[in-house]
Amino acid sequence: MKELEEKILEEGIVIGPNILKVDSFLNQQIDSELILKMGKEFAQYFKDKNIDKVLTVESSGIAPALATALELGVKCVFARKQQSLTTGENVYHSSVYSFTKQVTNELIVSKNFLKEDENVLMIDDFLANGQAAKGMVALIRQAGANPVGLGIVIEKSFSDGREIIKDMGIDLYSLARIAKLEDGEITFVKED
Ligand code: 5GP
Repeated sequence: MKELEEKILEEGIVIGPNILKVDSFLNQQIDSELILKMGKEFAQYFKDKNIDKVLTVESSGIAPALATALELGVKCVFARKQQSLTTGENVYHSSVYSFTKQVTNELIVSKNFLKEDENVLMIDDFLANGQAAKGMVALIRQAGANPVGLGIVIEKSFSDGREIIKDMGIDLYSLARIAKLEDGEITFVKED
């Protein structure tokens, strides 16, 4: 998505080893117009998948997930993150290790909001090593629902995430794909 790539080049800041900070339009302040365009783009790509629900992880996935759900005319559910194991009875849960934050979170979602046989589209802000996505897939499978696609705002294509998702047979669509984050410079994957 050209407009997103331009925004990343204008406002993205490379910090630490291979970490991109985009809190001026995605991770803290949200560019509402751009988010709505992302929702349209995801909805257009996944429109033939008979999506019943959009699932994301709090907090940065919520805005693009909501924009997508709105376009598709379905509900948006977000998994909550918890660091301790105080899980109640009526929930699905899975463990996710974050390399960025170096913590293990539990993803939790109420059994009331994911149902058997539903086609679920997952949306998240970043794809790196695929751990958050794997956690969402685990929640969906516990419910007996179908993980039919994954929409990612920014994919770090130099990490393993894409391969992990493809190996699970899940349709992956990323709006921006980063090939390299080196010496403060952002290079996108050249699409054919
Ligand atoms: P994964 O689970 O695929 O390894 O990492 C994805 C999650 O880690 C995303 O939900 C996002 O919150 C976080 N993340 C990974 N890489 C980055 C990054 O470069 N910048 C930011 N802001 N978040 C990241």
